[in-house]
Amino acid sequence: MNSGKINRTRLLSAFRELVRIPGPSGRERKIAGAVAARAKALGFRVYEDGAGRRMGTECGNLICTLPGDGAPLILNAHLDTVESTEGLVTKEKDGAIYSAGPTVLGADDRAGVAALLEGVESALESGVSRGDIFLVFTVCEEQGVRGARFLETGRLPRAPFYSFDAGEPAGTCINSAAGRLSLSVTVRGKEAPAWAPEEGVDAIAVTAKAVDSLKWGRTDEWSSMNTGVIKGGRSAETVAGEAYLEIGIRSVKRELLEEYTRKTRRAFCSAAEEAGACADIEIAEDYPPLDTPAGAPVCRMALLAAERAGLAGALARSGAGFDANRLSAAGFEAVSMGIGYKNAHSPAEYIEEKELAGSALLVRSLIECYGKER
Ligand SMILES: [Zn+2]
Repeated sequence: MNSGKINRTRLLSAFRELVRIPGPSGRERKIAGAVAARAKALGFRVYEDGAGRRMGTECGNLICTLPGDGAPLILNAHLDTVESTEGLVTKEKDGAIYSAGPTVLGADDRAGVAALLEGVESALESGVSRGDIFLVFTVCEEQGVRGARFLETGRLPRAPFYSFDAGEPAGTCINSAAGRLSLSVTVRGKEAPAWAPEEGVDAIAVTAKAVDSLKWGRTDEWSSMNTGVIKGGRSAETVAGEAYLEIGIRSVKRELLEEYTRKTRRAFCSAAEEAGACADIEIAEDYPPLDTPAGAPVCRMALLAAERAGLAGALARSGAGFDANRLSAAGFEAVSMGIGYKNAHSPAEYIEEKELAGSALLVRSLIECYGKER
């Protein structure tokens, strides 16, 4: 890794400053203000879209634009943290940065934000040839990638989209990540006194039969299914008239999401029909899958940029969902890049300085690679 190409001290101090600014999902006004100011200082025009208004939250996504004369490139990180970092004190040990208190560190995804800003600043300082650079800072990512759903993509060119937001090491390019559907199932049977079961239809028994007929856990190489919440009945003195179940389906392949949804619907409808009950199923898409082909230019450039930055580049699949999932579904060639945070979403979260530096270098390297394309 040739970290002489970035300013490591500036990067680390920006990171420490950014993680200390509270900005949990839906309350990103402060952090958005700080990031917008930094982007403007680098020469970007900053636009805040209407996502915040549409979601009823504090702030929209930031779309920052800097014209150039090579191929355009979109770089992304999310502004929100899974919980507030209010009062955060960081500690440093063996080249890594930790939270010293009870809050998360917020490296997910302030490390991405810091890497984007440093990568751009060092590229601008060195005067490398570059194309149009778009920085997209999203809100409410930690709430089922919600902010990106309302991103005003019409303001972006159809350019490669790189989310800097995965836990894998810097240089890893996630081109495949599961999408997630949530199914809410209500089975309606008929309530009856426990001593006259012939008069009732047991909704819990119907639910159990349907659950038993389906495959759970790792259902195939690309997919998994789980039951979450189960509720129903009122007491052992009564045949349960109603049961409620929540199911999660994840898959990298859209057609498999559809197939498991069909199978689930069939299992509940036939168990209900057989018993004289009925089943209502509501389906919500939490986020779509990311399934960018390994040979796509966005992947090839990620690997080339990693190699030029002295990082071990690799393609990988992830079980998490990213802004890249939504952008991919919206027609962009998208991937999510590793930034190397560990133990995210817990107070044990930390990041190694070399991962932060590697991510910033990779940003700079991407800018250089696209700058040479016309
Ligand atoms: Zn994240």
